[in-house]
Amino acid sequence: MIGAVVLSEAISYLAFHDPNAVGLIAIFLFIALIIYFAFRTGLRGGFIAVAITIFYYLYIIDSRDYTGAQFITSIQTTAVLGVLYVLLAWIIGWLKQTIDLLIEQEANEKRKLQAIVQQLPVGVIVADNNGTIIHGNQQLEKILGRKIREGLVAGRDIIAKGTHNGKEVGPSGWPLAHTLTTGKPVIDKEFKIQNDKGKDVVLQISASPIKSRSGKVIAAAAIINDITQQKELETRKDDFVNMASHELKTPITSMKLYIDSLSISLGKYNDERATKIMHNLKGQTDKLQKLVNDLLDVSRLQTGKLGFEKEDFRLDTLISEIIEVLQDSTKKHTIVYAKKAAVKVYADKFRIYQVITNLVTNAIKYSPQESSITINLVRKQGKAVVSVTDSGIGIAKDQQKRIFERLYQVADMKEKTYPGFGMGLFISKEIIRRHKGTIWVESEKGKGSTFYFSLPLNT
Ligand code: ADP
Repeated sequence: MIGAVVLSEAISYLAFHDPNAVGLIAIFLFIALIIYFAFRTGLRGGFIAVAITIFYYLYIIDSRDYTGAQFITSIQTTAVLGVLYVLLAWIIGWLKQTIDLLIEQEANEKRKLQAIVQQLPVGVIVADNNGTIIHGNQQLEKILGRKIREGLVAGRDIIAKGTHNGKEVGPSGWPLAHTLTTGKPVIDKEFKIQNDKGKDVVLQISASPIKSRSGKVIAAAAIINDITQQKELETRKDDFVNMASHELKTPITSMKLYIDSLSISLGKYNDERATKIMHNLKGQTDKLQKLVNDLLDVSRLQTGKLGFEKEDFRLDTLISEIIEVLQDSTKKHTIVYAKKAAVKVYADKFRIYQVITNLVTNAIKYSPQESSITINLVRKQGKAVVSVTDSGIGIAKDQQKRIFERLYQVADMKEKTYPGFGMGLFISKEIIRRHKGTIWVESEKGKGSTFYFSLPLNT
């Protein structure tokens, strides 16, 4: 400011020798300086600049020995300019302070958010669109057993080697990289890695893209959960179920044999009550055997130990055989075999038998009123498609995907009206999937359901 005063004096005397020129130069120079100081240091800086300017004007008036009208005009000009300068300094200073406050508030928010992310009980990585880490929290360091610095690249410097469903994961297979390239979120994928301390850990990773207003992916955030302990517990639980069902299998088979021979022996006495008891006993043992077999299948599926013995067979004939058996189990329902295309498939006959039986018994179970169940077998786009239609209780839209999950049942345990364990459709889905087919449902609550599955044809 002082420099500006000296400069103003020098220019006006050396270059112009004209008091009006001094005034004009001073006005422009000082407006610029007031703006500059008010913007740099806020209200205080602006007002100091104004004060210096006004003192300088007064100094000019005094040093140039103005008198009379010239003196009065100079004082009036200084007063008007002074008011303008104060206004200018005030507006710009206030603007500057408001902007500062906003920036400070945003910085505080950011600090708060960072502190929260730091303390989260799950690992968090935020990376820019090259995969370079912008932020990694404490829990992530704990999971990976190493320090996370900004600038490391996710998938190269950290979490670079691992497996998903037993297969090696390539650089683009990690959720963060996938999200960055496709712009789509990844939800709860499981990976096995060895952390920097040499410990095997199971991670559940989800990632989401962060997009600009124009929709361009500019960064991505991933949440990483260490589920190693949970997995160990699940494995122990599965092992237990597997062992228990194995142990139960033999006594149940013996029980069935004893019941059969007892039924034959009792048959000689023509005792109606005893025959009925034996019939019920057989029914209950069959149910127990089915439950144990389902438990074994689920645990074999979990451990990847369910093998298939494939052969060529006529699917239409298999369906006829199943209908014959199942029609005997119900008087309320009529099973109609409407369309029967003659198709051959190459599959595990017993397992396909199991799937169809499960779909038809479900159709019977979930159709409490007297009704018919229709089965169709058609060829469609090089595949055999089987459908089982009932007019029973139906399934709400939001449940339709979930019924194929392990142990999922629509009604909760408290209001359970239909017996079952929620294993049948899970087993069916896995059997069909492993035969390169698909299984799906179309249903409307209260109106009935159609379950479909497809298998590759073997013509
Ligand atoms: P479970 O019948 O032993 O409970 P499933 O896996 O076979 O187990 O079926 C899962 C759930 O799907 C059932 O609990 C039932 O709620 C629903 N479901 C299956 N089939 C039908 C059907 N035909 N009609 C209505 N609901 C069905």
